[in-house]
Formats: sequence, C-alpha cells, structure tokens
Amino acid sequence: MDTDVLVVGAGPTGMTLANELLTAGVSTVLVDKLTRRSDLSKAGGVQSRTLEALDQRGLLEPLLATGDHPVATGHFAGIPLPLHANGRRLPWRSVPQVVIEGFFDRHLAERGLYARRGHELSGLAQDHEGVTASFTDGSALRARYLVAADGAHSTVRSLLRDAFPGQPGTLTIVAADVRLSGADQAGSHTWREDGHWAALFPLGTDAQGRPLRRLVLGGPGRSLSREIPVTEDEVRDGLATVFGTGVRLLELRYARRITNASRQAERYRHGRVFLAGDAAHVHLPLGAQGMNTGMQDAFNLGWKLGAAVHGWAPEHLLDTYHAERHPAGAAVLRNVRAQSLLMDWAGTRDPDVLAAREVFTALAQLPDVQRHLAGLMSGTAVRYPMPGAEAHPLVGHAAPDLDLGPTRVHELLRSGRGVLLDPADAFARIAGPWSDRVDRVNGVDRVNPVDPVNGVDRVGSGAGTGPMLIRPDGYVCWAGPDALVPALAHWFGKPR
Ligand SMILES: Cc1cc2nc3c(=O)[nH]c(=O)nc-3n(C[C@H](O)[C@H](O)[C@H](O)COP(=O)(O)OP(=O)(O)OC[C@H]3O[C@@H](n4cnc5c(N)ncnc54)[C@H](O)[C@@H]3O)c2cc1C
Repeated sequence: MDTDVLVVGAGPTGMTLANELLTAGVSTVLVDKLTRRSDLSKAGGVQSRTLEALDQRGLLEPLLATGDHPVATGHFAGIPLPLHANGRRLPWRSVPQVVIEGFFDRHLAERGLYARRGHELSGLAQDHEGVTASFTDGSALRARYLVAADGAHSTVRSLLRDAFPGQPGTLTIVAADVRLSGADQAGSHTWREDGHWAALFPLGTDAQGRPLRRLVLGGPGRSLSREIPVTEDEVRDGLATVFGTGVRLLELRYARRITNASRQAERYRHGRVFLAGDAAHVHLPLGAQGMNTGMQDAFNLGWKLGAAVHGWAPEHLLDTYHAERHPAGAAVLRNVRAQSLLMDWAGTRDPDVLAAREVFTALAQLPDVQRHLAGLMSGTAVRYPMPGAEAHPLVGHAAPDLDLGPTRVHELLRSGRGVLLDPADAFARIAGPWSDRVDRVNGVDRVNPVDPVNGVDRVGSGAGTGPMLIRPDGYVCWAGPDALVPALAHWFGKPR
C-alpha cells in the first residue's frame, strides 16, 4: 500500500476529509487535477452544524480570524428566515468557499499534507485488499480505501458506473461575484411583476476592503445554455431590469450559469470506494447547503475509515456512512426542490405558485415554522438512524455543546476520539476496555446545556445532562443509563 486512504479532489469535501483522516491518524494522499487552487468562489456561507463540527476540531476560531465573516440572516425560497431560530450558539456565517479552501490548504500543510496538484485520476480497480488508482500522467497509486470527492462531474462515479438518478437541468440562472454601487438599499431578493428577479448576498470584501456580493439573476428569457459565457452587458441589463438605475455594476469578477439539475448517487459505498460531496449529490445552490452537506459527509466518513484502517471498526461501521448520509442528502435535495418551486425562479408567474408562495410567506412568520426551516437549512435537524434512537430523544442527534465547567463538550471532541460523559462517575469499570478509543469524562464541575434547543428545550427538562456516549463526529450514539456495553461494541468495536 502506498497510503491508507486516497482522497480524489481537493475541494471543501476532500480537504475536510483529509483533515479528519489525519486526526484519526491515518496516512492520506490528496490529489486534484487542477494545477493550482481556484481563486473564485462558489459557496458563500457556512451553516451552524458545519461551524459546530469545525469547533469540534479546534478550527472555528482560526477560520473566523481569517477576515470579516458576518453573521447573516438566511432565506427559504427567498423569504427571509432567521437562521438563528435553530437555537444554536453558532448561527450562519458568511465565509466564501475560496476562504475555506485556502484555510484548509494551509492547515493541512501545517500538518504535513500537501495536495498533489495536476494529478488527474483516470482509472480505478479494486480487490479485497485495496484500490489501485491510475492517473493521466501514467502513474498509479495503491490505497486501502479511496474517497471520490471529485465534484459533480465525478470521474470516479463514472468509472464505478454508479447510477446518478434525478432530474436533469431544465433551466439556468446567472450567478456572479460582483462589486456594485447602490446595493445597500436593495433587499436580499427582489421580484418584478413580470417575473424578473435578483438576489444579493454579502461575500466579504476584496483586497482593498471593498464589499463584494454574490448576485443571482433570473426570469423570463434569462435561461441560456451553460456553454454560453455570461457577459458584462448581460449582468448590467439584468440589474437595470430589476433595479432600474438604482444599482450599478462596478466590477464583474466571476460569472457562471447554474442549472436546476437535482441528482443523488444511488450508493455512497462501492466496496472500498466511497462517494462524498458533490460527487454524491447535486442541486441548485439555494440556501447555502451544497458545500456544507459535502463537509458533513466528510465528518461522518473520516473517523469510520480511521477505525477500519486501525482494525477496530465493527463489520457494519463503514456501511453506516451510506445509511446515515444518503437520507441526509436526500432531505437537502427535497428542501431545495421545494424552494425552487416556491421561488418561481423561472419567472413563470404561475398563479398557483404565487398563491402557494403567499400562504407560505405567512407561515414563515411563525416561530415554530422558522425553527423547523432553520433546522433543515443549517444541518442541525439531521438525526441519524441508530439503535436506541426510539428510546432516547438525543440519540442520533448532534451532541449538545454542554458547558462542563472547565471545558465544553465540543472542545472534548478535538482529540477525534469518542467521548463518554459520565457525570456521576458510574461507568469507569464498564468503559475501561474501550479507553484506547473513548475518553471518559467524569468529575466535571457542572453539566449545563449551553445550547437550549439541543440540550433541554427539545428533549424535556434535564435530559441531555445525563450520561451519554458521543461519536468522534459529534453525534450522540447512546444516552444512559442502560445498555452501555452493546452501544460501545456497536460503535467502537470489541473491548480491548
Ligand atoms: C454559484 C454557486 C453558489 C454556491 N453557493 C453555495 C453556498 O452558499 N453554500 C454551500 O454550502 N454550497 C454552495 N454551492 C455549492 C458548493 O460550491 C459545492 O457544493 C461544493 O463546491 C462541493 O464541494 P466538493 O469538494 O464536493 O466538490 P468541488 O468543489 O467540485 O471539488 C472537486 C475537486 O475535485 C477535482 N477533480 C475533479 N475530477 C478529478 C479527477 N478526475 N482527478 C483529480 N481531481 C479531480 C476538481 O478539480 C475539484 O477541485 C454553490 C455552488 C455554486 C455553483
């Protein structure tokens, strides 16, 4: 074997995964066909659950220190949505994808991992011991496992002949990174009676500190083939159609056409090969979810591959990647489709759609609806199917970031190991044989919910402050007091 895991694609999914693998102590090779990182941004923001996962690895503070990354309110189908309605400590932040990629690139380099750029995978064969990948330059590499994080047009997915069912794109809209004048007065979404619309989102600042924005334009006649380049005149015309002379284009930095294609791989696992990120799911970038979903795939898969490489993974563990992440991806695709319908992004002005939108806009003012939608969009509503989930409301959910006096739960997860919270010091003997994989934490000063939704509101008073077992990716896989041994064996393998 040349390496334990080969990660194909150094986008946000591949880099997050590489970091998880290093945390798990697994040798990793990261390759990308591009000779240098793109300096153009696609995603504009990081959702609560991704922020929490970064915090669990000690990466949140250094990431946010890279610049001005304001908290912004979100939207559902263009209807303003306070994303902090999910009740989490860390609400949505504007962090452009290019910043995330640069941050991970530097962080991985500090850990000794440099992406091998200009390395395009073109062939793949697997046997019962490993995977052999071949590259267009004629070289080859052998790894125990391979992860395809090679984006929407994944070569690996094609080589596996994995079905990528869903809907083909039927329409396009324009997405552009711009500097504008007069945009401060414009709302995030503006519609005209004739169906033309524009959306504007903050995208940080340029090197001179001037505000950049993501502009999205759609409406009748705006759907052109993706092959036709977007011109400055087209963007100017789109702005004038929606805003008149109020908003003017100062600089067009990057523009592309995006489609409403919506597809998801049928199987995330093919033996020793796994699909993650856009290689596994594509959809319209509505509500800032694609990159976040890919990064969550990586957090889910990294520790499981680590367990397999180190030899303690129970037989079924690698299969739980598909079992957990496929439904999570499907839920994202569904909410995006609902949004694209309600947004009338093709500008049809269909009276049925407008009526549904009016009703939905009224519903979206209700706190319970806001909480539900914010949970969907921010990834915090994800609950993985797990044994014991029917018996305890926390099992399957991301762990509450409990305040333990000198530390917080999310800080404890920085080791990349499992954590057993044992406030009453009752499980030392039982958990002892797993102490090489699970850190038991007892004798804490206090166990207070930091996060009201996850800790107490949702699960009833006091729940969430008792004993619980947390996987390395931050999900609760057991909550006490009974049957800890089967849970430890299920997630962390045989006792030592
Ligand atoms: C306009 C726009 C706005 C968006 N806004 C948001 C947002 O606000 N929030 C959000 O969460 N998401 C957003 N997204 C989606 C987000 O950009 C993607 O989901 C994200 O880039 C997926 O990351 P990835 O690492 O899975 O794939 P990619 O970023 O596509 O990375 C794949 C990498 O694999 C490499 N590669 C491909 N083939 C090979 C090969 N054969 N060999 C080696 N390397 C290969 C590529 O060079 C590339 O670097 C947006 C997308 C667009 C287009």
